Amino acid sequence: MKICFVVAMQAEAQPFIDRFGVAEEKDFFAPLPCRLYRANVNGSELDVVLNGQQHGSDLVGCEAACVATMAAIQRLQPDLIINSGTCGAFRKNGAEIGDVYLSNAVMFHDRRVPGDDAWGTQALGNYPVFDRAAEIAQALGYKMGKVTTGSSLDLQPCDAQIIEENKGELKDMEGAAVAFVCSLYQIPVLLIKSVTDLCDSGAETYEEFSRNLAMASRAVAEANARVIQYLM
Ligand code: SAH
Repeated sequence: MKICFVVAMQAEAQPFIDRFGVAEEKDFFAPLPCRLYRANVNGSELDVVLNGQQHGSDLVGCEAACVATMAAIQRLQPDLIINSGTCGAFRKNGAEIGDVYLSNAVMFHDRRVPGDDAWGTQALGNYPVFDRAAEIAQALGYKMGKVTTGSSLDLQPCDAQIIEENKGELKDMEGAAVAFVCSLYQIPVLLIKSVTDLCDSGAETYEEFSRNLAMASRAVAEANARVIQYLM
């Protein structure tokens, strides 16, 4: 099985890249800023695609995730896309910093589009996720949760309301965008997320995120490695 990881930040991917000793193929996606790292694991190709940088910082968010995912699918033709990274979660659901979750669903939480049901459905997204996610989570002992995606790191009341109404558990900035592109190409997508911050902890999110980014990135690298071993 040819697996392609799509990851937003270099810091999130680095422990994983180091672990597999994958090498960068420079300018593979030029003129796009996306970066390709490639390795051979158990005789199968393993690709890691990063969003890349603009304005001197790693590109996060939905637009960059769509570009990276579309470029990855078109150029690499993977059997499975895995969006791995970090997320916020909720203490009230029993989440703790550093927990690793696999997605059982994914949608947007910040797209408020008036109109009929069809517009509401499009706005929320609710894309399919890899049908073996529950099996993998059970086999490897990971939690499962619904990822909701928006374009901001902070949590505004209107977003909180949509997350609550839809029973969202993990808050990120790329998952639904990656899943949207995968839904168009009918390529299965799995999300592996580690918790950097608790949205209901009262802490300042950016401060909590920054403090826990390295630890959560190591946790997600470990999970990625175990999922690869399980699947490949
Ligand atoms: N300025 C930050 C930018 C990171 S944005 C920095 O210095 O690194 C946060 C990234 O982590 C996004 O890619 C997003 O997917 C994820 N993330 C972690 N916690 C999040 C939260 N509470 N809400 C939304 N995204 C979160």
